[in-house]
Amino acid sequence: MMNLSLSLRGQQPKAISHPRRSSLLHRFAPHLILTMGLLLASSCSSAGETGPTPTAVIAGETATQVPAGFEPTPRPTIEPFRFVLPTPGAEPVSGWRPPLYPVPWAVSAYDHFYFARPIAADNVNWPLAEYRYGGTFFAPNIVHTGVDIDAAEGAQILAAGPGTVVSAGWGLYSGAEGNTSDPYGQAVVIKHDFGYKDKPLYTIYAHMSEVIAVIGQHVQTGDVIGLVGATGATTGPHLHFEVRWGANTFYSTYNPELWTAPPQGWGVLVGRLTDDENKLLNNYPVEVRPMPSGVPLRRVITYAQGAVNPDPYYQENMVLSDLPAGLYKITINYMEKDVQYWVDIYPGQVTYFTFTDKEGFQVTPPPVPTLDFLPGTATAVPTP
Ligand SMILES: [Zn+2]
Repeated sequence: MMNLSLSLRGQQPKAISHPRRSSLLHRFAPHLILTMGLLLASSCSSAGETGPTPTAVIAGETATQVPAGFEPTPRPTIEPFRFVLPTPGAEPVSGWRPPLYPVPWAVSAYDHFYFARPIAADNVNWPLAEYRYGGTFFAPNIVHTGVDIDAAEGAQILAAGPGTVVSAGWGLYSGAEGNTSDPYGQAVVIKHDFGYKDKPLYTIYAHMSEVIAVIGQHVQTGDVIGLVGATGATTGPHLHFEVRWGANTFYSTYNPELWTAPPQGWGVLVGRLTDDENKLLNNYPVEVRPMPSGVPLRRVITYAQGAVNPDPYYQENMVLSDLPAGLYKITINYMEKDVQYWVDIYPGQVTYFTFTDKEGFQVTPPPVPTLDFLPGTATAVPTP
């Protein structure tokens, strides 16, 4: 098979100092907006940003109440069309992170960190905190179907895993080849050599300034497939990265933070938060602090309703990756009270928690699935 090992074309990654910008991917997709609106219209009256009406009391031994003297942090408001974002709970941008675990990486049989990161480790290569999967920062009814990685114009975009290029250039969203008004801009899609549970896996790389890979080409992990740009519906250069499972469609995305290997010694927090009607708490702020220092504070917003899919095992509505191993405090404001819980993050692993109205916080993992759940055609998952 042809191996892609192209030159840099004279473009080295540049300093990552440009101001934060907002991707407007999908804003210009009227039929999508309509679809999302219809989806939301049937259900937005239940568990919204503010949660259910305060009629119940949080029960359960695991829900820890606010210690005396604790000053609750004001809850943020979700502002639609926030083009220039403040950065509450922004990820700390340190200049160094450990190398990633080798892929595929999976300590548990239900994990699937199959992909390397599409931006090299000498750049910022983790998701922008304000633009995680499942957020609605473009417009109230439009859900983000991938993660955005802050990268300089011209930075190399790397194949996240081995596979065959099935789409390259303009027209990924619209389906019209060469459509230069496509919100994804110039994009590449790789269909990977492995799947998961007998279904294919795809990764999507959007907003390229230059496409290097060509349709039909077989690429290996780390091959350069394009350069970071600002084509399509975006106001600045960055990489929009998606993981699609089962089909190469807009509605088949999953949270890339559950599919890309964490840095060595670091772990991933996965949560499922529901209200008193067992409905998912959408657009719900969750604060995560390392103990004992409490800093840096990370703030995650749970998935909105719309074109997002939870992991088949975890059924989560929030993921926060890239947490150094250690003890963390999770805080949510529920029924007008701050409710806290402490969890351990383990190297290279998922720490899973639930929050329910009746039980409060729990760290019981989801029930073990039946045998038919286990990965089918996936590449070999390392034994623990
Ligand atoms: Zn994006």
